[in-house]
Amino acid sequence: MLLLLAALAAACSDDGGDGMPPSDISSAAAAPSPTGTLTPPPTLTPSTAPTPTEPVLTETPVGGPAQVIRYGDTSRKVVAFTFDAGSDAGYTAMILDTLSANGVRVSFGMTGKWAETYPGLLERIVSEGHTLINHTDGHKSFTGNSTGTDGLSEAARRDELNRTEQIVNDLTGATTRPYFRPPYGDFDESVNVDIGALGYTYNVMWAVDSRGWTGIPAAQIAQRCIDLAEPGAIYVFHVGLASEDGPALQSIIDGLRAQAYEITDLPGVLE
Ligand SMILES: [Zn+2]
Repeated sequence: MLLLLAALAAACSDDGGDGMPPSDISSAAAAPSPTGTLTPPPTLTPSTAPTPTEPVLTETPVGGPAQVIRYGDTSRKVVAFTFDAGSDAGYTAMILDTLSANGVRVSFGMTGKWAETYPGLLERIVSEGHTLINHTDGHKSFTGNSTGTDGLSEAARRDELNRTEQIVNDLTGATTRPYFRPPYGDFDESVNVDIGALGYTYNVMWAVDSRGWTGIPAAQIAQRCIDLAEPGAIYVFHVGLASEDGPALQSIIDGLRAQAYEITDLPGVLE
């Protein structure tokens, strides 16, 4: 049990690089949400082009529980890279330069707070063809498992996701749907239900953690990311300075390509 807890704690610090402090959850005690009045007919497919003028707050479920994914298509030598952005700008510009120089498109897990703080970097991410993952607004644990806090209510979870989607959409016109990345990797079935209802079809976990957040040097990060390659694997990295994932990136790309792996974003391994 202790081992399990230790492992969980380690895994959950996925956010060593991007983790915002799990600040107060007072907003979790959210105001009662409007129920059942004048809700539009259910939309079965989340729109890829949300209309900013229309309030995104809705009680109408648009989908069943999200699917937890760690791999995409395992029949091909292809891997998906995901970079979480939740605290400092860190190595984001370097990461974008490296990706661009190598013709690689990836997915970025974005908090609303980060997007608001670094709109120029967000615009670059989108304009250079990368895709986005909703990493919530304030990086609170939805279940409280890793933070010793109460979990968020359904209304608070919805608010976290909608705020980030609104910010990203206002700034770039892009959407974070249908991808959700749980802060600290914390989720349970109620989270899958709540996010699925908002059009987040995929709860994006990972098969390979660079573990850059533990402070290991870039060469060690690169070696592990190359050694752990598997068809369809989803990788998690962080943009923040606390992790040397950025400086390790070129070596990782070189090493995976030497093994004939294609590197892509989430749509690239899921479609
Ligand atoms: Zn995070």
